[in-house]
Amino acid sequence: MSTFDITAIRSNFPALQQQVYGKPLVYLDNAATTQKPQCVVRAIDEMNAKINANIHRAVHYLAVQCTERYEQARETIRRFINADKPQEIIFTAGTTAAINLLAFSFGERFVRNGDEIIVTEAEHHSNIVPWQLLCERKGATLKILPVDDTGRLQTEKLPEILTGKTRILCVTQVSNVLGVVNPVKTIIQLAHAHHVPVLIDGAQGIVHEDVDVQALDCDFYVFSGHKLYGPTGIGVLYGKEKWLEQLPPYQSGGDMIASVSFTKTTFAGLPLKFEAGTANYIGAHGLATAINYLQSIGSAAARAYEQQLTAYAVEALSTIGGLQIYGAAAPKTSVLSFSINGVHPSDAAAILDKLGIAVRTGRLCADTLMQRFRLQGMIRASLAFYNTKEEIDALVNGLRQVQKMMH
Ligand code: PLP
Repeated sequence: MSTFDITAIRSNFPALQQQVYGKPLVYLDNAATTQKPQCVVRAIDEMNAKINANIHRAVHYLAVQCTERYEQARETIRRFINADKPQEIIFTAGTTAAINLLAFSFGERFVRNGDEIIVTEAEHHSNIVPWQLLCERKGATLKILPVDDTGRLQTEKLPEILTGKTRILCVTQVSNVLGVVNPVKTIIQLAHAHHVPVLIDGAQGIVHEDVDVQALDCDFYVFSGHKLYGPTGIGVLYGKEKWLEQLPPYQSGGDMIASVSFTKTTFAGLPLKFEAGTANYIGAHGLATAINYLQSIGSAAARAYEQQLTAYAVEALSTIGGLQIYGAAAPKTSVLSFSINGVHPSDAAAILDKLGIAVRTGRLCADTLMQRFRLQGMIRASLAFYNTKEEIDALVNGLRQVQKMMH
């Protein structure tokens, strides 16, 4: 293992110090949501307790403090993903909310009867259903870029799927099931050659990759705070200004208007045009605190450690008879989904739970991938930089117990 000080890191996370059913918690459900470092918990607590007032409105001390923190958070995120301008960062409630915003607004402006939208077989439901509903509303067609047996996106099929009718291509940077890092830069270049804008679902990608939206040249990028060691209820839609300027508002109400009369409403400029109502300024500050924390511990060191741990886990899991990991294609992140012959995922999860081991099981919000691999469900262990080899050993021992009980 690298010199990454795992004991010090773990001490930053209060949730990791607890026991469940009298056993030390082994938390391996990080692709669903991550635990929060103490500094994030403290930042949220402090705002809830003291620094709390609605933003962008009043001029009193607390309102100014909160507004400044909110806009500072926007700037922290802009820098984190290297967006060109702060107004290209729209705060949302999360990835799902961001994709719904885009599917509605982009759809209203650009999608017509007979048009086509491309998604991939590796998407989370969040990056399928909003586009499917849009297609139903508009009479458009949803087209699918498939994955092969190793979980690799079959990018070579893209030239035949992209047509003059394609309006947008939506692809996840990292699958929440397969953990495979998709070649999004190549996909973006191919799509742009057909003048098709690209949305990257970065819900998992931002956790495992350095993201530079300008270098990627993606048109839209979305992610959630809670998967990045930040709070729930906050997320981001990044969009190139030239696109966001053209899109109509999604939700409407306070803070997103320039003026309102009974005959005509005019809208605020970016980013507020897309931030109707009271924003989650506490969540935004919490997310910025999480990003600052990640930068303070060194994301390169954390990733290197996570990669070593993943290699260790893949090897340890492969000693279990009848276990098959899905998504062997490289490069792969620390999301490990697998099945075990003769073991129902829900039984495995229930037994592991009683051993204090938290994994995710079932269809993993990816029915289409389950259909692709002809499975009812999978078991998913997703690792974070605060996990340890001992926790992997506990998982493997737990799975052996599951096997014994099931056979
Ligand atoms: N996209 C991917 C790849 C995900 O992994 C998830 C959550 O698991 C989502 C979208 C949805 O994220 P949220 O539930 O935070 O909106």
